[in-house]
Amino acid sequence: MTAFKLAEEGKSVTLVEAGRLFGGTTGKTTAKITANQGNIYQELYLRYGKEAARQYFRAQSDGMSGFADLIEKYGIDCDFTRTDGIIFSRCGGERLKSTCRLLKEFGADCEIVGEVAPVKSVCALKMSGQYLFDPIKFLSALPVNFEIFENTRVTEIDAKNKILYCGNKIYANTVVIATHFPIIDKYGGYIFKLRQSLSYTIAVKEKVTDKMFLDEEQDGLSVRPYANGTLFGGFDHRTGRVKRVGSFARLINKSALYGGKAVTHCWAAADVMTFDGMPYAGAYSKKLHKVYVITGFNKWGMTNAMVCAEIIRDAICGKENEYARMFSPQRKIKACFKSALSNILTNFGNITAAYLPFTVKTVKNIPVGTGAVVRYKGKKRAVYRDENGRLYAIGRMCPHMHGQLKWNADTMTWDCPCHGSRFDIYGNIISEPSVKCCKHKI
Ligand SMILES: Cc1cc2nc3c(=O)[nH]c(=O)nc-3n(C[C@H](O)[C@H](O)[C@H](O)COP(=O)(O)OP(=O)(O)OC[C@H]3O[C@@H](n4cnc5c(N)ncnc54)[C@H](O)[C@@H]3O)c2cc1C
Repeated sequence: MTAFKLAEEGKSVTLVEAGRLFGGTTGKTTAKITANQGNIYQELYLRYGKEAARQYFRAQSDGMSGFADLIEKYGIDCDFTRTDGIIFSRCGGERLKSTCRLLKEFGADCEIVGEVAPVKSVCALKMSGQYLFDPIKFLSALPVNFEIFENTRVTEIDAKNKILYCGNKIYANTVVIATHFPIIDKYGGYIFKLRQSLSYTIAVKEKVTDKMFLDEEQDGLSVRPYANGTLFGGFDHRTGRVKRVGSFARLINKSALYGGKAVTHCWAAADVMTFDGMPYAGAYSKKLHKVYVITGFNKWGMTNAMVCAEIIRDAICGKENEYARMFSPQRKIKACFKSALSNILTNFGNITAAYLPFTVKTVKNIPVGTGAVVRYKGKKRAVYRDENGRLYAIGRMCPHMHGQLKWNADTMTWDCPCHGSRFDIYGNIISEPSVKCCKHKI
């Protein structure tokens, strides 16, 4: 979106993508374009006051219109559908009721309703006029008046001189880091103020609803229709901190309660989370000139991407943007001491754990089809045993900041609990911030 918006302004843009375009989280999203994001408004009101909550709502509404306008302007066929967006509660729904009162003050077309089939809710906040779409069809159809290099991972950035290393060197006048989790660690403090949250999704053949639903709880159920089927998602947790194995099985069971029968796909993807629920878009750091960042969409990356792309476009073109201050990466986040401390302690704990040489486990302790950090060939390694008993060993430390990797049995991946880099059984990068694969230590 940012590349597109800058090219629209006549800027000469080069987009560098580590894999294939849309192969990151955007290709695995549930793509609800909605301002009905539940309790965020109540949380912003308590943290920053009513005006901040109102401004966030306006930003989301603008983000929604941004999609509608582009889809109309370019006649894009991307399954863009208008429907109700529903956040439901399985308890009393007191927070949803307060949110509804607040949103009505902001002019939102919303109401509190009781049970809404097919989900079992006690209370729900319904907002009309929300959208669903297919982001890949949408992005693929946007006019591309800029250069794109796929399969080109940036492995190092000289941020002062704006040189990007990716096998070759790219000399830039301005750099926008939109790599999901930012990849420059030296500036901006993103390693302290962000974390990643992994969610699980399944697709079923049956269309059980034509509306979109979301449980108000952080790890609750998300439901949306697509084509002739339905997507069910949920069971979010900090990447690398698997609470319980069996997320896909539990999603399949849940979907069956709502009429889902034939599961066609299962996948997991992570998003970047900030402490106050709002993204970061703006200058990467006060110490850097003409280096920008977009990150921290908190699972609301459709509307927010539209708004953030415009913030960056305006910053580069020297124009004012009404949301620039609110989404500034340098904003002071109020009341975040507990979350910040917990984030730092988690990172510190996992990095320290990686340096402890002691482990009593050996490869004999690894059952077929699973992985563990064990002593193997004289060293502590991350080892996976396949169905035929074959072992796949990689370094146990994430190349990013040396956190100890954790095996995720649902996704069959090695995930870092610190900043959320993920690797396959061969040590190849699945997602950033690591810019290196994880086989170098073997
Ligand atoms: C399960 C799930 C459901 C969601 N549902 C919704 C929803 O319904 N509505 C909503 O609004 N939001 C939703 N979100 C959030 C939204 O999908 C994301 O916020 C958004 O897609 C993130 O976009 P991005 O461009 O920041 O990241 P990505 O799409 O991951 O793009 C980043 C790109 O950077 C590339 N990259 C990384 N490192 C490098 C490097 N070193 N060099 C070059 N390229 C690199 C990656 O390959 C990737 O393609 C959901 C998120 C998840 C996880």
